[in-house]
Amino acid sequence: MRVTVIGAGTMGAGIAHVCAAAGHDVSIRDIEPNVVMDAIDTITNRLSAGVERGYLTAAEKEQAVDDLDGTTDLDSALEGADLVIEAVPEDLELKRETFADTEDHVDEETIIATNTSSMSVSSIAAALKHPERSVGLHFFNPPHKMGLIEVVLADQTDEETADRAEEFVDGLGKEPVVVTDTPGFASSRLGVALGVEAMRMVENGVASVEDIDAAMELGYNHPVGPLELTDRVGLDVRLDICEYLHEELGDRFEPPEILREKVEKGDTGKKVGRGFYVWEGGEPKDVADDEDYDIEDVI
Ligand code: NAD
Repeated sequence: MRVTVIGAGTMGAGIAHVCAAAGHDVSIRDIEPNVVMDAIDTITNRLSAGVERGYLTAAEKEQAVDDLDGTTDLDSALEGADLVIEAVPEDLELKRETFADTEDHVDEETIIATNTSSMSVSSIAAALKHPERSVGLHFFNPPHKMGLIEVVLADQTDEETADRAEEFVDGLGKEPVVVTDTPGFASSRLGVALGVEAMRMVENGVASVEDIDAAMELGYNHPVGPLELTDRVGLDVRLDICEYLHEELGDRFEPPEILREKVEKGDTGKKVGRGFYVWEGGEPKDVADDEDYDIEDVI
């Protein structure tokens, strides 16, 4: 297939890499020329690393690089596209504009997909003249390491588009889960629910930060506990999603006080070196001291 990825940032570059590695002819477009160049470098380096690790042959890598192009020009990026995946910033109007501009340059059979992590796919799709060809393809970060892609069915998505989207995900060697277009889809809704409850447990002094995480890691085989995961995602990012889910799904998603306080203090997690943990060299070193929520006081 010819796949066009719009937006060459963190997710766009990652999605383009996964598509190129699976043998698709890929075009990547950004409004910033340097971002396009960086994305092509990143994808080429990751494909080379894939050869070293035995995921693809040197000949497959060469073919993938030959079939990859980057541009700032929307017209040439979309030429002959069978599937377009937008990965521009999480802004509803921008996504709607991107969908509408895309539709003007592609055939009627072209699927137009969004990688939104939280917004209503149906609202984005409503910008199209033929919204039945739209779908959400929610990749996870980093796309080449994560096995899941949520296939989000907008109210308008027709059966053929849904089937073709699932087949495409299968062809990438990923596991599709099909979800209807509801706030937080399946992944964010469940992930945030667990994180919110873990934070309330810290507030109530149920157990220490480390022990709450250990309960999920060792008791439920989660690769990381919900509080460490919140640090990795970013407390500010989690707060935004929490506020959105609170508005859409009700009080069970009301952001815990501890989350608001930490964001206000600037303790937004791994990226700043402090959240629920203190981070050093990209790893959690210690639990961040929090006078208000000390398990010793509660016991
Ligand atoms: P990012 O900021 O790294 O990349 C966005 C890119 O889009 C930028 O390079 C920007 O220059 C470009 N852009 C802006 N307007 C454009 C336009 N009109 N046409 C083409 N390019 C344009 O953002 P990201 O983290 O890659 O997120 C992109 C999307 O993926 C968002 O919807 C986000 O919610 C979703 N997502 C992000 C993650 C994650 O962990 N970062 C995970 C899943 C989904």
